[in-house]
Amino acid sequence: MQIARDELPQYLIVQIGNTDKIFHQFGPSSPEVTPGVREMDERLSRMVPELLTLGYRVIINADHGQHDTATGGSHGSDDDMDALVDCTWVQ
Ligand SMILES: [Zn+2]
Repeated sequence: MQIARDELPQYLIVQIGNTDKIFHQFGPSSPEVTPGVREMDERLSRMVPELLTLGYRVIINADHGQHDTATGGSHGSDDDMDALVDCTWVQ
């Protein structure tokens, strides 16, 4: 956020990777990922309003989905669970 505040670049790409890590660890359908998903939601709930105040438009999406495996989660297949992701445009 410091770069957004101080330098006002024309666009920012922000990657918050913790959800990918915990989805690999537990599987995306596991209730054990809930705290990490909540943390991501809280971070976005702080970031997005500030970015909008600074004049940015915000697109939120994931770079991929993930599917459950016997040992956690994985991605990279052609399966819809891996290939299709939600995208949100916030103005
Ligand atoms: Zn991954």
